Amino acid sequence: MSTLPPSSHPARPAVSWIGLGIMGSPMSENLIKAGYDVTGFTLEQEKLDRLTAAGGTAAGSVAEAVRDADVIITMVPASPQVEAIAYGPDGILENARSGALLIDMSSITPQTSIDLAAAAKDKGIRVLDAPVSGGEAGAIEAVLSIMVGGERADFDEAKPLFEALGKTIVLCGPHGSGQTVKAANQLIVAVNIQACAEAVVFLEKSGVDLRAALDVLGGGLAGSTVLTRKKDNFLNRDFKPGFRIDLHHKDMGIVTDAARTVGAALPVGAVVAQLVASLRAQGDGGLDHSALLRAVERLSGARV
Ligand code: NAD
Repeated sequence: MSTLPPSSHPARPAVSWIGLGIMGSPMSENLIKAGYDVTGFTLEQEKLDRLTAAGGTAAGSVAEAVRDADVIITMVPASPQVEAIAYGPDGILENARSGALLIDMSSITPQTSIDLAAAAKDKGIRVLDAPVSGGEAGAIEAVLSIMVGGERADFDEAKPLFEALGKTIVLCGPHGSGQTVKAANQLIVAVNIQACAEAVVFLEKSGVDLRAALDVLGGGLAGSTVLTRKKDNFLNRDFKPGFRIDLHHKDMGIVTDAARTVGAALPVGAVVAQLVASLRAQGDGGLDHSALLRAVERLSGARV
């Protein structure tokens, strides 16, 4: 497949961005800062206003946003939303031009990515799955890890764009591979948060100064990006998202399902998936995933 045709900006492709949420807004703004022309569409008017204020262009629909794009980036919650914006008469595949590159950065099932790549190929549209890790802070600071599935040539072409969004950028294999690695990422993060939450409750009930304990734990083998990034959430019981429990519930479903398919046992992951589901069932789905602390507190007798 040929490389991208020239856009209005000779050095950089014209970008369309669909999904300007917690992640999509700061990521698209980083592209604008790097000199890309970004036309965006999302469901909330205030997010479109934010894009315009940052120097982007707001579109009135998916079709309008993608029509003149060389590269289309999607960053929406889950597989159903990716399918809703990709397929159908108003979707990306019907309205983007042949030769465009579609990069889906949402965290979705690997099979959805594989199916999307196959459907897009019929329209002459190339696809990469490129989910990310690093959270809202990583998006704002442009230090995300980006795990990519698809063709090497498309990855190479997208690399400069990825470099405006993240620091660790790896082609993991064919279509769907980025999503499989992201599923493993979410397993590791959830188990890590759960372990930190259990340690917090244990430390507090033992009467140890929590801040001092988390400081010294962070410097040893127990230290982790999760502990560093979520320490203040634990200390202040600040569960403003961040990464919503609802989305982590979706991701634990993806990883446990994918693991069953390949015959991998995830005993600890399965328990943590249940704890995430329980938190959600208790009405905490809109909180940051560090709110797993609330689940441990409840199990330990607190009324939170
Ligand atoms: P979010 O809910 O904040 O944003 C999602 C955006 O998608 C919203 O602005 C919404 O308007 C838009 N959207 C949904 N349906 C749409 C449609 N039909 N047409 C146009 N726009 C539509 O979610 P988020 O936290 O930004 O997460 C996005 C993706 O990134 C998810 O797959 C999530 O799992 C993943 N992710 C999130 C984080 C994080 O820390 N928040 C970190 C890594 C990966």
